[in-house]
This record gives sequence, C-alpha cells and structure tokens, in this order.
Amino acid sequence: MAGTAAGESVGYRDLFALLLERRTTVAWALALTVVGTVLGLLQPLLTMRLIDRVGTGEPLAGPALLLAGLFAAQACIEGLGQFLLDVAGEGVVLRLRKTLANRLLLARIGDLDCHRTGDLLSRVGTDTTVLRDMVAGSFVQLVTVALTAVGTGGLMLWLDPVMFGIVIATIAAAAVVVAGVMTGIRGTTEQYLTDVGTMTADLERALGNIRTVRACRAEHREARRIGEAAEAACTSGLRSARLGSLVGPVMEVAVNGSFLLVLLIGAVRVSNGDMTISALVAFLLYATYLVMPLAGLFSAVALIQRGLGSLKRIQEALRLPVESTSDPAEAPTRGPGPLLELVDVSFSYGDRQVLSGVSLQIPEYGYLAMVGRSGAGKTTVTSLIERFYDPDGGAVLFRGTDLRKLEHRGYRRHVALVEQHTPLLYGSLRHNLTYAAPDASEDAIREVLDTVGLDALLRRLPDGLDSEVGERGVRLSGGERQRVAIARALLAEPDLLVLDEPTSHLDTVSEAEIAEALLRASERCSLLVIAHRLSTVRSARRIVVMDGGRVSSIGTHEELLARDRTYQQLVESHLLQSEKSAHA
Ligand code: ADP
Ligand code: MG
Repeated sequence: MAGTAAGESVGYRDLFALLLERRTTVAWALALTVVGTVLGLLQPLLTMRLIDRVGTGEPLAGPALLLAGLFAAQACIEGLGQFLLDVAGEGVVLRLRKTLANRLLLARIGDLDCHRTGDLLSRVGTDTTVLRDMVAGSFVQLVTVALTAVGTGGLMLWLDPVMFGIVIATIAAAAVVVAGVMTGIRGTTEQYLTDVGTMTADLERALGNIRTVRACRAEHREARRIGEAAEAACTSGLRSARLGSLVGPVMEVAVNGSFLLVLLIGAVRVSNGDMTISALVAFLLYATYLVMPLAGLFSAVALIQRGLGSLKRIQEALRLPVESTSDPAEAPTRGPGPLLELVDVSFSYGDRQVLSGVSLQIPEYGYLAMVGRSGAGKTTVTSLIERFYDPDGGAVLFRGTDLRKLEHRGYRRHVALVEQHTPLLYGSLRHNLTYAAPDASEDAIREVLDTVGLDALLRRLPDGLDSEVGERGVRLSGGERQRVAIARALLAEPDLLVLDEPTSHLDTVSEAEIAEALLRASERCSLLVIAHRLSTVRSARRIVVMDGGRVSSIGTHEELLARDRTYQQLVESHLLQSEKSAHA
C-alpha cells in the first residue's frame, strides 16, 4: 500500500493483515475455536445415543456424564479462545495507536493544517476501538459459523437429505434479506464516525478557546453547534440501528420457522416409519445449530463493515507523509557567508499567494528586525525559516545550503523560535525551560532566567524551578510566559533566535527589559525579531520592512525613515506611539 491518495479504498485484505500481526495468538484462538466447535457438533449425536437407550434397560449414566463433560469442555475452550482474541485485539490497537500518534506528531505542518485536530484525535481513540472489537469479535464468529455450517450440514445430510433441503431453503431466504441490510449498515457506520469526529473537533476548538468563547458570550451558541453535531451522529446511529433491528426479527422467523417445519415434517416421517424419534431430536438440534450462528455471522459481518470504515479513516491518517524521509546532510558549520538567507522566496497557502520575491540575509551574530502591517507575511517568513513549509519558488539557505537538503530535526537544533502566541506547556518551570535542552545545567538555567529578567519570579515561586506552572500550578502573566518562552529558546543555544512579536504582551517596563535582554542575547547568536515597538526595532542593526508579502526595503532606522513610505507610515502610527508612551 504505497499510495497517498486520501480516498484509496480499504479491503478485507487490509483487515486480514491486522490479524496476521498477531498470528501466533490468533492461531491458538483459531485452534481452540475449531476444537470447541467440533465438541459442539458431537453433542446432538450423544443426545441421540442417550434417547436410543431410553427404555432398553442400558445404563444412561455413561452418555449423560460424557455429555456433561462435553458441555464443560466446550465452555472452557471457547472462553479461552475468546480471551486470546481479546489479547490479539488489544495488541493490534496498541500498535495502531502508537503508530498513529507517532505519525501525527511527525506529519508535515501543512498537512496538519488541513485536518481538524479533534477529528484526528477521534481516529486514535474511537476508530482504533472499533478495530479492536472487530479483531476480538468477528473473527471467531466467522470461523465458528463456517465450521458449524459445514459440520452440521454434512451431518444433517447424512441423517435425512430431504429435511436438510427444507432447512437450507428457509435459511437461504433469510440470508438474502439480511445480506442486503448489512450492506446498508456499513455506509451508515462510516457516516456515524465522521459525525462523531465533527462533534469532537468542534468541542475541542471551543474548549481550547474557552476564554474567547465566554468573553463573546458564545457558550450557548457553541453548545448548540456541538448539540447539532451530536444530533447528526445520533441520526446516523439511528439509521444504522433501524437497519440493524431488521436483522433480529428476520433471524427469529428463520429460526422458529425452520424449527416448526422440521418438527411437523419430522413428525409425519416418524409416524410413517421413515425416521426414528432420536434422529428427529438430533435433527432439531442441528437445525438450530445451523441457524443460531447465522445471527452471529451477521453481527460478525456488521463488525467487519464497521471495522472497514474505521480502518479507512485510520489508514488515511497513517498515509500522511512525515517531514524528513530521505538521507539528508548534516547542517553545515560556520563559514564566511551569511548564517541564513532567503533568496527570491515565494510561498502560498493553497491558492493564496502570501510571499513573493522575498530576499533577505541574516549575518552570523547579526541582529535583524522585521516590521510590517499585520498580514504582511512576517509570521510566514518565520515558518519558512523553521521549515514548517518549503517555499514554492526560490530557496531558504542555511550557511549556503538549501534547507530542503537538510534533515528537519538536525537543522532545527540551530534555530530557536518563540511563537507569536506561546502557550505554556505543562509541569514544572524547569520542564518548561528545558523543553528544547533537556540536559541544561542548573547554572545555565539560572543565567538564562537572569538574562530575561525572570530571577524575581524564580524567588517568588514556592518550590523554585520545580514549581508547577500553567493550568494546574502557578499562573504566569502574559509577559512572564513570553519571557519563559524566550528563556527556553536561549537555553537551547541556537545559532539563530527567531522571535515573533515577543513584546506584544508586555508593558513598557518589561518591554525595555526584553529589548535589553535581546541585545545581550545578540552577543550569543543571530537574532531575527519581528516587532511593533520602536525601541525593540531600533536596537537592531538592520530593519526589514514587509509590505503585502514583499520586502519593501531593508536598512537602518534612519535610512528607512528617510526613504521608505511604509516604514514612515508605521512609525507615524503605532510604532512611534508606543515610544511616546514609554517616555510618558
Ligand atoms: P503577519 O505575521 O505579518 O501578520 P502572516 O504571515 O501571519 O502575517 O500571514 C500572511 C497572510 O497569510 C495573511 O493574509 C494570513 O491570512 C495568511 N495565512 C497565514 N497563515 C495561514 C495558514 N496557515 N493558512 C492559510 N493562510 C494563512
Ligand atoms: Mg504574525
């Protein structure tokens, strides 16, 4: 299965491959099932022997004890077989969940952008569970049914060919009806899971932005939307249930109908002397044996149909390409040229062109600022530098090597990014600081906290670096969170530190502290700082002005003020204002 198309179909072969993953366990379960079924088939024959002895004076205890033994053995063996299948099912699910989680965490950012997070989550949670039930539930039933059908059919044929024909005809009629229903169930199940995915995705988005939701007083609207998604799921669930509810009555009619037919015709044949009473009893037992597992067969087929729907969604996620595949080069070491360079870069999100002809250079130990209106493409430039996306045209070069030739993770060791909106992770302050550099020493951590002006915070925390921060611990202010993010980036000792509007959450005092921290950091590595505040921008040696996805000009503050219209406008509006307020 090498394809990447999302709609590629999934067949029984793929389900079978899942069973083969646990072939030893499944083989044992299969063997036990076969033994259990054969023991079951022997029971009517023994019953026949028992009845034949009635009134002849021969002891009944022997066959009766044997029959009891058979019952017990069959129950134990079938129980053990089912347990083994459950083990196999959990094993398959474990493997799928691990692979899925891994694949999703390694997938290309562009592909993840196209999927709702909640929908991806439900593939790891719900769909894998459906597959587990399929592996654990359907397989044993299919084998039991097949064996029972062949065994029972053969024995019935041997006992009485005419009556065998009657039973088969009844069952065949029922089977045709049920098979039609089953095909319908598969479609509704797929729809059901898609609807559940939508609901999960909506709820996830609402809870993830709960503050905005509350502030906009939109909680009832969101609840309604999620309610609607739940209702859609309910509708498709009911459609599947309606179809499923046909199965029971049809089977009931088939079971009781064939029982009655066999009884009536059998009674006539017994009175005509064509059949013994004991053979009739055995026959009645076999007839139910043949029909009963048929219900199992249909529920097994329904499970498989659901499994196919889920497997399709799982494989779709598994086919998402991962970032680095080829055998890439190591990131080059320092040379005479610039550290990072964008050469005539163009980029679009889907059809929407966002960058065109962007060229800029960041020298080793250079400090570059980037300004521009919101929507100018600044964050997109940082995404290309982090290689979340590859450019459509032109190239991003790291020390002269095209990023496309470098391995993602190896390259990212050289570049640290502080995102525009930086959520804190979870756990202790130490954990959050050392996320990119797990081996950082205590001294290095404290030094970095000094650099970003968080030494006071550290003294305030009850357990120092080991204090819990975030949702379940000490709440940090926006400014503190931002500085934790900067500290985390610096601790990784990158060659290039990219900051996307790092001071936008800060008051002017902390903003000045950050500006100073950045100046100090610029002695350790190159900096690209996207900023709106003039004080941050002015410490940069050069400033890039972005406008509508293009570089409008590059220069020092004075140069740009003299000749760049966009820069003048930016300074006239908010950039300058913030400096005024800083002096107020
Ligand atoms: P800036 O950071 O300068 O405000 P961005 O780089 O974030 O600008 O965005 C540039 C343009 O690209 C905007 O018009 C924005 O709507 C669009 N854009 C940004 N991210 C995405 C995305 N993931 N998918 C589609 N369009 C996007
Ligand atoms: Mg931005």
